[in-house]
Amino acid sequence: MRNVLVTGASRGIGAETARLFAENGDNVFINYNHSEKSAFALYNELKEKGYSVNIVKADVSVSVEVGKMFDEIETLCGGIDVLVNNAGIAQTKLFTDITDDDWNRMVATNLNSVFYCCRRAIPYMVHNQFGRIVNISSMWGQVGGSCEVHYSAVKAAVIGLTKGLAMEEGLSGITVNCIAPGVIKTDMTSNLSEDDFNALKDETPTGTLGTPYDVARAVLFLASDNSSFITGQVLGVNGGFVV
Ligand code: NAP
Repeated sequence: MRNVLVTGASRGIGAETARLFAENGDNVFINYNHSEKSAFALYNELKEKGYSVNIVKADVSVSVEVGKMFDEIETLCGGIDVLVNNAGIAQTKLFTDITDDDWNRMVATNLNSVFYCCRRAIPYMVHNQFGRIVNISSMWGQVGGSCEVHYSAVKAAVIGLTKGLAMEEGLSGITVNCIAPGVIKTDMTSNLSEDDFNALKDETPTGTLGTPYDVARAVLFLASDNSSFITGQVLGVNGGFVV
């Protein structure tokens, strides 16, 4: 049974990803930071269904907290075979209104967290000569998004981190890939109005918006044996919005 850590699994894409891995028969660690209630609701739901599931609290933007989370995981099961770096925040602001705090929070949450978690997960993967890392970037990291330049910058950096790490870890049996979701209906996009959603749908070749399940299925694929010859790639899950 593989040990899978999904960061930011209390809500949205992360919660759906944790659910899918549990249904797949993996031993899943649900990480959360603020949303204790929804994280435990997911944990209880999966536990009641008989799945192998654990819950770990950590602010993944803080190195020390990531360290403690991995200490806890390693005590329980040795280490992580599949790491899904999903935790993230978004913010819509004019570039010139972005404060130092906004910028630093964005970098810490969406980029430093990926660095901290990968750095801590990799030695166990190298020891086993097996590992799967899936980082959640964004299509705005591929093409740039107006009024979210700090978000675009860190999501582009996640793509760079993915490619570099894939080069370094290939011979250790570790694949490192990235998913770049398009518009997915979650709390993160709850600031958009129905008119906004309809306009985005019209711009999307499939004529649909994405769901957390669409992204979760792609994560599961990139963590499966079916993708063992795929590394350093960016998979767009966006209905063709960015091609
Ligand atoms: P969401 O519904 O807002 O959920 C965000 C998740 O990240 C929550 O579980 C939250 O946990 C967690 N999180 C945030 N900061 C954290 C921290 N410091 N430590 C631990 N967990 C933290 O967002 P989502 O739409 O599912 O997004 C998930 C990922 O997909 C993000 O990386 C996002 O950038 C990316 N993405 C989303 C879309 C979209 O359209 N929704 C598009 C492209 C990419 P707590 O609430 O427990 O703190």
